[in-house]
Amino acid sequence: MKKAVIKGLDLADLESWIMSIGEKPYRARQLYRWMYRKGARAFAEMTDLSREFRLKLEEIANLECLRIEMRQQSKLDQSIKYLFRLPDNQAVEAVYMLEGNRITVCLSTMVGCPIGCPYCATGIMGFKRNLTAGEIVDQFLWIQREQSQKITNVVLMGMGEPFLNYEAVVKAAAILNSELGAEIAARRITISTVGIVPQIYRYADEGQRYKLAISMNAVNDQQRNKLVPINQKYPLPELMKAVNYYTRKSRRRVTFEYVLIKGVNDGSRHARELIILLSKIPCKLNIIPYNSNEFLPYKAPSEKELEHFLAKIYDAPFTVTVRRSKGQSIAAACGQLYIRGQYTAED
Ligand code: SF4
Repeated sequence: MKKAVIKGLDLADLESWIMSIGEKPYRARQLYRWMYRKGARAFAEMTDLSREFRLKLEEIANLECLRIEMRQQSKLDQSIKYLFRLPDNQAVEAVYMLEGNRITVCLSTMVGCPIGCPYCATGIMGFKRNLTAGEIVDQFLWIQREQSQKITNVVLMGMGEPFLNYEAVVKAAAILNSELGAEIAARRITISTVGIVPQIYRYADEGQRYKLAISMNAVNDQQRNKLVPINQKYPLPELMKAVNYYTRKSRRRVTFEYVLIKGVNDGSRHARELIILLSKIPCKLNIIPYNSNEFLPYKAPSEKELEHFLAKIYDAPFTVTVRRSKGQSIAAACGQLYIRGQYTAED
């Protein structure tokens, strides 16, 4: 008999499953807590469940989901990149980052990515498949289990486009946010999209409370069509209309991310156009200096070029922050996640 995969079930689904195997509904809450709060990886660890019930679970259900295949720790900033092996032998990466009191994990939502942004290492892998909610949550659970301090923030911006795997991503976020689960505050969970317009409306209409980030990266359609190819399907006027709808409906600001690429989108003209583009929307702008990687010809801006761009955007009517990516030395920074054929020695 094929064992039931229960990681990734929310409480309602777990209750239905528990009842379907002839157990009382309260058992679902116990199981849920053990899986998502305490991060148990075997039924034997669930010590307050009766031995009989644990044995029954072992026989019919499977708690294992991902396997850690590799950890790479950066000597520079304590980031750790994890390589996880999936049950079908595919692989994904997730990153653990430490900054003061903030402990963030960046999770993947797909194996590869269908969007194919030309500056992104993940994009050149192509799309293999969506992750399940359980596979997304399990990246978090594994990393939390390995770390002594509680993870405070989750960003869904690893490999993949989260809004093309909408149901699984929102379900995973709900499990991570839930009181009986990992209890990460909704405002500390960020979902980042390149701009899948119908899903932005859906997200707004569903009243989802997780932070929304939009990877902007360009200032006009001509440039964005190249840098973020999905723009050909959902051009900027449509995207901005959808984002506007979201901010009005949710009464929340949105974060625009702008990967600053040397000689591509880092000129004074780009800064001016960006201010005009974003000025009418309640937002924050997060500038991410590009991280070069061995596969692609794009380059990181120099410190001087970054300063120049910041000086031009200094008087924008919205908050501007710079995110200096963690984990560059282990290819764990934004746009660098890529499953290499073989991992080399730790850096
Ligand atoms: S930047 Fe994001 S959406 Fe674009 S190819 Fe990379 S992972 Fe996919």
